[in-house]
Amino acid sequence: MTDAVISLTAITASKNVQEKLSRLGINNELDLMLHLPIRYEDETHLFPINDAPQGQVVQVEGEIVHNEVVMRPRRQLVCQVEDSSGILVMRFLNFYGSQIKAYAVGKRVRLLGEIRSGFFGVEMVHPKCRIVHKDEPLESAMTPVYPTTAGLTQKTLGKLIEQVLSHAQNAQNFAETLPEKIITQYQLAGFKDSVSYLHHPPPDASVDALQARTHPAWHRVKFDELLAQQLSMRLHYRQRRSRIAPALTKKSKKSALSKALLKQFAFKLTAAQKKVSAEISRDLTMPHPMQRLLQGDVGSGKTIVAALAALQAIENGYQVAMMAPTEILAEQHFQKLFAWFEPLDITVVWLSGSQKKKQRQAALAEIESGGAMLAVGTHALFQEQVLFHQLGLAIIDEQHRFGVHQRLALRMKGMLSDTVPHQLMMSATPIPRTLSMSYFADLDVSVIDELPPGRAPVVTKLIADNRRDEIIMRIQQACHQGRQVYWVCPLIEESETLQLQTAMETYDNLSQTFPDLKVGLVHGRLPTQEKSAMMTQFKQGEIQLLIATTVIEVGVDVPNASLMVIENAERMGLSQLHQLRGRVGRGSDASVCILMYQKPLSEIARKRLKIIYEHSDGFEIARQDLHIRGPGEFLGARQSGVPMLRFADLEQDGELLHAAQTAADDMLQHFPELAQRHIQRWLGEKTEYLRV
Ligand code: ADP
Ligand code: MG
Repeated sequence: MTDAVISLTAITASKNVQEKLSRLGINNELDLMLHLPIRYEDETHLFPINDAPQGQVVQVEGEIVHNEVVMRPRRQLVCQVEDSSGILVMRFLNFYGSQIKAYAVGKRVRLLGEIRSGFFGVEMVHPKCRIVHKDEPLESAMTPVYPTTAGLTQKTLGKLIEQVLSHAQNAQNFAETLPEKIITQYQLAGFKDSVSYLHHPPPDASVDALQARTHPAWHRVKFDELLAQQLSMRLHYRQRRSRIAPALTKKSKKSALSKALLKQFAFKLTAAQKKVSAEISRDLTMPHPMQRLLQGDVGSGKTIVAALAALQAIENGYQVAMMAPTEILAEQHFQKLFAWFEPLDITVVWLSGSQKKKQRQAALAEIESGGAMLAVGTHALFQEQVLFHQLGLAIIDEQHRFGVHQRLALRMKGMLSDTVPHQLMMSATPIPRTLSMSYFADLDVSVIDELPPGRAPVVTKLIADNRRDEIIMRIQQACHQGRQVYWVCPLIEESETLQLQTAMETYDNLSQTFPDLKVGLVHGRLPTQEKSAMMTQFKQGEIQLLIATTVIEVGVDVPNASLMVIENAERMGLSQLHQLRGRVGRGSDASVCILMYQKPLSEIARKRLKIIYEHSDGFEIARQDLHIRGPGEFLGARQSGVPMLRFADLEQDGELLHAAQTAADDMLQHFPELAQRHIQRWLGEKTEYLRV
């Protein structure tokens, strides 16, 4: 890389300021240049007081005709400002003694703020207020307002940016990184012009287009940002793709093993299952590692698809590792796959962190000798002691639950030898398309977009928790009809102990309420064996009412359970609720999910419950969830290794994202050097995490 990244010492000597800048993620001149305004203040126009529109920030000017400290309803400074058109009241609830003096009667002031009708007439509360002389010139450009941090004023920040802009005017910082062809093709504004424009919009600039970020200058910046993300993801994808993986050939359309597996089921694969299976199968035959994300709503039947992929590897003499984020889920997979594969003469072993040493050693030995063709487990699977004889495929269920780093650790593992295993990641949290196109652009994606036929949809009910009696009655009814019930205890994020305590109390209460029912309790702290014993009992119908913490969120499969009660549903995330609800409605009976909530509900909580109530399609729920929470929270803290987008908005800029994706492939192929420069400009060191 020849571009010199100029450090900040050149423009600011103060360590203190540098520290504050770094808090904003600004570590060099480039960062400073790309630190763009969050909004603009228009001080280029003056409105007559009586004509100024309400509900937006406006600037007015007038003379102070009254100044008074009022004590009621609370202590405040109230002034009246008059121009030739009318009068407005300016109010300060917090003010200094010096302000009382400064805003003396007779002074001319320029105010910037929102006008509204208030207690004292038309007023501005806490405007930006400046004493001016008569005929003082207006600002010639819109005033940018930058994101900042405590102790760093707009003024300081603005000056530093100013300095960098003039400093870098002709330098590399501003150099165009896009080839002419792409600029023309996507009708983009120039980089230098765009950045300058956004820092210094001219007086005639459209405030609306600037604020809404629809102006061509914003377009360009957002395109660049999305392009950088696409480039680095695609580059990463290509690097991994260029490694060698075992080509797991398929001898005939339906191999003996997969035929034998499918024979065990009373049902046929859905068209969607067939389609994704074919995609995976084709990938596995390639001599390069597959990196595929299999998405499918809860209950769409991903496990069978994974099993078919596993068989293709096994048939070629390669081992398969299947990893799940929780013990309960991993154990369920183990039981299922063990039952499916045993008749096919395939050895399946179980590996978890909490298992007894002897069992663990036996499992490790079988994995190392190659006796075990399939190992199922938790993250214990990618610890150092686990040596595979010949690992051909790694399957990761609920991949979003693993952090980026864990995902990478497993990749590393395979890389100790020359060949890399294929990877299949599965997720039941449907990821909205724009999100998967951006943050998962280093993966190929297959989607199961239909549920197996004959599922009765789950009926969702919202019930306030003061109607508990009604719920109790429903449980009684369901159990008397031979059905089973889940009761999910509230999530208490602040304290696991408190959560446990609540679960125990609920268990005691409900055991007393239902003396004739068999009631069970599972929670995260329960020793693994007890946990799995409890799940087995529930599965076999020995327990009718299962009290659970959110440990049952993923993957639990008990078709006879047809009622679920979720306490304090308003505290849970939408995708979590959707996952939980997916635990019922697995059989052919009509199922009900009761979302209990505590009143009063906040506006957001009400909105979210409405979404989960109205929609059963996980993708739609995810899309709306993304809309409410934004990608950062949606992806979760665990994905925090991924740099977030600062300017582009995945909902608003879906089209730009498409363009950036196509442009990225074009650039990697035809303009690799510019591509590198572009990544460096936008991501700099942040690309480190991608280098495996
Ligand atoms: P998920 O995608 O949530 O992991 P599972 O693989 O656990 O879903 O499948 C959910 C249930 O649907 C299981 O009981 C499974 O046996 C059943 N199932 C899977 N595929 C089909 C199908 N094609 N037809 C009917 N039932 C199916
Ligand atoms: Mg599953």
